[in-house]
Amino acid sequence: MRLLWMQAGACGGDTLSLLSADHPPLEQLIDEGLELLWQPSLSTDSTRRLTQIIADIIAGRTPLDILCVEGSLITAPRNTGLWDPLGGRGKKDVIAELAGAAQYVLAVGTCAAYGGVHAAPPNPADCVGMQFTRTQADGLFRADWRSRSGLPVINLAGCPTHPNTITKALAFLLRGLALELDPWQRPTDFFTTTVHQGCTRNEYHEYDVEDTTLGGRGCLFFNLGCQGPLTLAPCNQELWNSRSSKTRAGVPCFGCTSPTFPRDGNLFRTEKLGHIPLQLPLGVQRAHYMAYKDLAQQAAPERLIDRKMEP
Ligand code: SF4
Repeated sequence: MRLLWMQAGACGGDTLSLLSADHPPLEQLIDEGLELLWQPSLSTDSTRRLTQIIADIIAGRTPLDILCVEGSLITAPRNTGLWDPLGGRGKKDVIAELAGAAQYVLAVGTCAAYGGVHAAPPNPADCVGMQFTRTQADGLFRADWRSRSGLPVINLAGCPTHPNTITKALAFLLRGLALELDPWQRPTDFFTTTVHQGCTRNEYHEYDVEDTTLGGRGCLFFNLGCQGPLTLAPCNQELWNSRSSKTRAGVPCFGCTSPTFPRDGNLFRTEKLGHIPLQLPLGVQRAHYMAYKDLAQQAAPERLIDRKMEP
């Protein structure tokens, strides 16, 4: 299968993720028949070669199986996209033509999926995602757009996307396996568990034992802004570099796989109503949560209160 990777308004973090994947590693996919027509950090050809590859795909001379788009689509000024040009045109228009020729289109990273950091207010470059702009089902393409396979844009959300989510999604396509998508067009195989599941601070969460400053052993949900119980992502099921995750390293989950990322506010602070967080774990009712939390805090074991357990 032939893959073309286009970088738009991006920091390059998803490319770094791709290079870090180990389960499966990219090399294994190449051995299985994945052909990289172009990847900005792996291709050694000049950008003149990229221009030729793009021309051949659009003219129908080179079939394109997978288009990966990294970064948000810059539409400024006045919907020309010329703040991010390619060959004298807005890159967004080139990407739209390539997507029309591709069998599958993957938005790699939350910027490509939903606009991400660049589309957050005030969005000075008028950035959009491939098929969403934040929660609006309207991006570079409208909601009813489909690639040649009949699928909408497949959103591998994350800032950056988990390394193995990228290579596993590519492996699914390479092996002809179906990818089922959730309402935000994320593959359900990788986005059905919360970051909270598998977090080593779970016992602290159960008993509402938390620090108010970073660097402690407690749960990060009640004071320090952790979005783990609200965020669907594999980060604590499948560790990064087979080693760690944000919450294991003591940094709150920022909810980066959500269309609303980054949320408007302090990412290291939990907004509360009284002593209860405004946003509760997915599916939990406020009245139940309040009753349960007060009881749980009173029942907290000494070893947790004394922070004697490693997170
Ligand atoms: S730190 Fe976050 S992910 Fe970990 S237990 Fe607390 S709320 Fe859940």
